[in-house]
Amino acid sequence: MAHEDNDIRAEMVDICRRMNSSGINQGTSGNLSVRSGDGFLITPSSRPYDTMQPADLCYMDFDGTYDGLRPSSEWRFHRDILAARKDIDVVLHCHSVYATTLAIHHKPIPAFHYMTGIAGGSDIRCAPYATFGTAELSQLAVEALEGRLACLLGQHGQIALGKTMASAIWMAVEVETLARMYVQALTLGEPPILSDSEMERVIGQMKRMSYGQAPDGDADADVARPKN
Ligand code: 13P
Ligand code: ZN
Repeated sequence: MAHEDNDIRAEMVDICRRMNSSGINQGTSGNLSVRSGDGFLITPSSRPYDTMQPADLCYMDFDGTYDGLRPSSEWRFHRDILAARKDIDVVLHCHSVYATTLAIHHKPIPAFHYMTGIAGGSDIRCAPYATFGTAELSQLAVEALEGRLACLLGQHGQIALGKTMASAIWMAVEVETLARMYVQALTLGEPPILSDSEMERVIGQMKRMSYGQAPDGDADADVARPKN
């Protein structure tokens, strides 16, 4: 029986179209999943987003059984990430050009800019290459995402996670922007990298300021807060 969650389905179609209009995805690459009920909703395989309808989304259980159209070829990594990461409810994958340019060279994104910290650490890792749609790729992705909200996939693309669809697409756009800046910075030579201790400070500061997706900061901290 198909899982009914019409609001989530409508928002998924909207986010998929925004993946394309924001320039982080093209053609039939990319996919999106959202935890729902005891399973998750996931985009169907090889469907262009401009004609995809809410009813075209597949509902999948964690045992890999599904209702509806054939699910994304990457359902394994969507399932395995959602199973491993109770801190997030959304998995977004795309082949954005600059993130993929770095991934082609198996280059992680180092702390060349403080915003690298938005993914939760002092770098954004790049998983080794494995064939698309395989359990091997899924395992490598889960490992590269440990303690992080984004990673690159060697010679493939990027994955961004979020509590919400809005935060996951925000993360994917930020990763793409960082990748673009890094590729550009590399044309002038190897850029300086912020130290691990500075990145710890940055991540602490992001948490205190509830910057990006960080949880709410300490109410007593010396940060701007609304009256009342
Ligand atoms: P699907 O169309 O099967 O989701 O595949 C796109 C993709 O990006 C594979 O990695
Ligand atoms: Zn892909």
